[in-house]
Amino acid sequence: MSEEQRELGEPQRIFRSPAPERIDRQAVRIKDSVDEADLKAIIDFAKEKGAAEGVAIKARDIVTNSLMPMKCRIPTCWGYNSSYFCPPRTISASDMQAIIDDFEWALLLHIPPPEPSAPYSDFYCHMNTMKEIIGRTEVEAQYTGYVNSMGFTGGPCTICGMFSPEWVAAKKAKKDVPLCTLITGEFSTCVQYYHCRPSVQAVGIDMYATARGAGWEDRLAPPLPVTKGRIDWPCLPGVYPILVM
Ligand code: SF4
Repeated sequence: MSEEQRELGEPQRIFRSPAPERIDRQAVRIKDSVDEADLKAIIDFAKEKGAAEGVAIKARDIVTNSLMPMKCRIPTCWGYNSSYFCPPRTISASDMQAIIDDFEWALLLHIPPPEPSAPYSDFYCHMNTMKEIIGRTEVEAQYTGYVNSMGFTGGPCTICGMFSPEWVAAKKAKKDVPLCTLITGEFSTCVQYYHCRPSVQAVGIDMYATARGAGWEDRLAPPLPVTKGRIDWPCLPGVYPILVM
């Protein structure tokens, strides 16, 4: 594991993590068609950042389904309405399908979540690490010349410390806890913009059907692990898409 991966995987248990270092570099010429060697290079980049695997698929093979965002509402996820990256503030499955229709290629990245029996803190760290991998890989695709690239993640936005074990403990103790500043209006922008991407489920992408169609059924995390009689983590399928062009 590289130093950077170790850093990405470390628990982020403070309420507000600092903004990531900004690293500018010159983009290459904007591409008007996909070079498959670029897709491989972008997948290699994702693997360097911590993805287990990646594969290029046709964007039309991404499946959307209006049931997905309903799963965020019924039973109501603890992340529902917590940021701009979860319903009801996300786009509908039909709007997402219209966006997908404008793309020809997508990458699927396999970023497996912890075992269902793992402690909550492991899931919290995993969500932040996965969002970092997706966010950075999307930006890498943009720097490669695919400027409209767009990545999708899983679970609610946790980047700034919301839903950390300490945040949850403070909330349970009825203490004041920081909320998403975009929703509270505290700031008009999110300083963590490098990392935050919508949850697949929130925008109606059915990753279970999509991964199965790509022959990646065995990479899927158990869709409905049940803990203490509760259905847990349907929004962390372990496979996430990045639309490329
Ligand atoms: S402020 Fe940014 S990082 Fe924090 S919850 Fe909102 S969108 Fe996510």
